Amino acid sequence: MLSGFRRTETRRGREFSVQPVSGQRAVKQYTCPGCSGTVDPGVAHVVVWREDGIMGPQADLSGRRHWHTHCWRIS
Ligand SMILES: [Zn+2]
Repeated sequence: MLSGFRRTETRRGREFSVQPVSGQRAVKQYTCPGCSGTVDPGVAHVVVWREDGIMGPQADLSGRRHWHTHCWRIS
């Protein structure tokens, strides 16, 4: 799966930015909030953060989370 463009998705009435990350660009290990499992380096996934956070855009960026693509899709 190639890295794509950032998109906006709505979950439970809130807007989130969703940025796909290709396997080549996934160089660190993360914990997926959806399944509490590991997103391993080299695995294509998505980075998700709040678009409408009350703390402002900077706080939202620091609150980015790395999800398995599948886990985000079913969240
Ligand atoms: Zn997951």
